[in-house]
Amino acid sequence: MKNKKYNKYLPKINSAETTNDHHDIESDIVGNSPCPCCGFMTIPNSGDAIAYICPVCFWEIDLFIQSSDEASDQNHGLTLIEARKNYHQYGAVLPRLKETCRPPKK
Ligand SMILES: [Zn+2]
Repeated sequence: MKNKKYNKYLPKINSAETTNDHHDIESDIVGNSPCPCCGFMTIPNSGDAIAYICPVCFWEIDLFIQSSDEASDQNHGLTLIEARKNYHQYGAVLPRLKETCRPPKK
């Protein structure tokens, strides 16, 4: 078992008390690399961002998987292929995460 690291990139989400007016999910992080799942430029640090969660599709960057058909522990055992399929179908890697996602920017 690898320890779950504290995720400094993960936005704190409290949907009961926040609205989009007050809650800026991107904070000050600027993506400069494409997300392996949705393909939007959401990943900071040239893609080398451990435990970073893409704000658009909610794929969690997993640097341990070697290929897109390898199950990712970080992503509920989803493979990248399954996650992409879900993203296209539901707008998020898992349907229940949809409401936490933000739409992609240009
Ligand atoms: Zn993504």
